Amino acid sequence: MRWDKTGKVVENFYVVGHPVMPVYLLDGEAPLLFDAGLRALGPRYEKGIKAILKDKMPEMLLLTHSHFDHLGAAGYLKQIWPQMKIAGSQKVQDILHRQRAVETIRSLNREAAGQIQTLGISSIDETPFEPFDLDVILEPGLLLTPDPHTRVVCIHSPGHTWDFMSYWISQKRILVASEAVGCDDGTGYICPEFLVDYDAYCHSLTRLSTLNPRVLCPGHGMVLTDADAENHMARALGYAREYVSMVEGFLKAEAGDIEQTVMRVKEREWDPKSGPKQIESAYLLNTRVRVRCLKERMGASAPWSSG
Ligand SMILES: [Zn+2]
Repeated sequence: MRWDKTGKVVENFYVVGHPVMPVYLLDGEAPLLFDAGLRALGPRYEKGIKAILKDKMPEMLLLTHSHFDHLGAAGYLKQIWPQMKIAGSQKVQDILHRQRAVETIRSLNREAAGQIQTLGISSIDETPFEPFDLDVILEPGLLLTPDPHTRVVCIHSPGHTWDFMSYWISQKRILVASEAVGCDDGTGYICPEFLVDYDAYCHSLTRLSTLNPRVLCPGHGMVLTDADAENHMARALGYAREYVSMVEGFLKAEAGDIEQTVMRVKEREWDPKSGPKQIESAYLLNTRVRVRCLKERMGASAPWSSG
């Protein structure tokens, strides 16, 4: 199943807010939230979570990585539920202590608030993003047992970012992997989401695929279950390889020029897309990083290299 709505995916597991910018909720004795979407959707997440939990409150919010659209509303949710612990990797905490990174997160959240109407959302909170501290630093491999029935394994999954943590809810076979497994754009194409290291991304994907999840939560757009979850990761790897040969081809044709290559990738990948798509500045930012990453990877073997 390709679940592209809010609401209950499987028993006790929900998509809240908006499927394109989701917060995932695992209900139980000690409910857990995964990721915190956009600042502008803070009240929308709050409303969705309260509708499910009633008078219970979330025990912990687990962050996958430090991108603006995954922790935007974390501070807002913490104000609503001050006892809720925010958890993530040490690197997420380090990034939140860097002023320039916080400014980038704030400005991308502001920009997204202006563009979110394309998702059919009218109630937008325009309060700026504010940084927050993590209450719990998660080590790779850590096993969390928020209640006797829930076990969550924290899996370091670098490649999209270095700070990335995926979460494996073992009894339910739910994997919250966000962009570590790429994102289906709705047409079946899985956008390769490596931003810092292509080989690490493929390695993380391969490793996560061995878990064989029944429910797979990528970063945006939909949750996959059963057969769709099963074949997503192999397909994501295939698209990643195709993307690399496309970019390497453009880089060669443009003699290693990053900006020209980015424009050619955008022409091929982003321009023809209709319907909801990533905001242009974030897309360009990410594509530039991907191209730079692949150019570096080509290294001395590149035709423009004198070495
Ligand atoms: Zn991301």
